[in-house]
Amino acid sequence: MAKIRFDTHRCKGCGLCVLFCPTQNLRMSSDLNAQGQPYPEMVDEGTCTTCGLCFRMCPDAAIEVNPEELGKCQNVKCKKQN
Ligand code: SF4
Ligand code: SF4
Repeated sequence: MAKIRFDTHRCKGCGLCVLFCPTQNLRMSSDLNAQGQPYPEMVDEGTCTTCGLCFRMCPDAAIEVNPEELGKCQNVKCKKQN
């Protein structure tokens, strides 16, 4: 199961998830969704710490983190958020 799942149809393309990812592991797509907006893509799932910041920042509930992974993050940059 993927660490993160994006519901691209809900995404409004605000870019907050990309901005707040502490491992710079997200980027906006070059394609557009049905609303005409770019949506986030994972750069490298292997370096995603499943910190959950992208999930927490999204105003449109367009990101889900695998609940089995959430809270395991050891990254000191986001430890206070868990
Ligand atoms: S869970 Fe954390 S590390 Fe993974 S993509 Fe989201 S913000 Fe980045
Ligand atoms: S925070 Fe949510 S709405 Fe904004 S770009 Fe990311 S997935 Fe899309």
